[in-house]
Amino acid sequence: MKLKHIDHIGIAVKSIEEAGKFYTDVLGMHIEDVETVPDQKVNVAFLPITDSELELLESTQPDGPVARYIDSRGEGVQHIAFRVENIDEALEELKAKGIRLIDETPRNGAGGARIAFIHPKETHGVLVEICERK
Ligand code: ZN
Repeated sequence: MKLKHIDHIGIAVKSIEEAGKFYTDVLGMHIEDVETVPDQKVNVAFLPITDSELELLESTQPDGPVARYIDSRGEGVQHIAFRVENIDEALEELKAKGIRLIDETPRNGAGGARIAFIHPKETHGVLVEICERK
């Protein structure tokens, strides 16, 4: 599999407005855009840095995956996403190696990306996303 770079780090937060203050006022980053992904019941704020970005994930629903994550573990790093050249090929390769996946086929993520998650049991506790962007 050909990983290009770390595409983004997803951080689960209770409030983008609240959490965003630290990353903008203290670290000097900027929020480029905020997008709602209804599929995953989240608002996503993008904070670019070099060819990567932080994504602050705020649940839009009390039963969304990010809300459930915060309920059980608190706010914090929720996933790491690697950019791949071809997500279909990457998924085929993972399946051929018997790797347990959360997504067998790509779904639509924030920012027009095609994404899929690998099961954290396979990655020693990290929720790993692979993503492809045109
Ligand atoms: Zn992500």
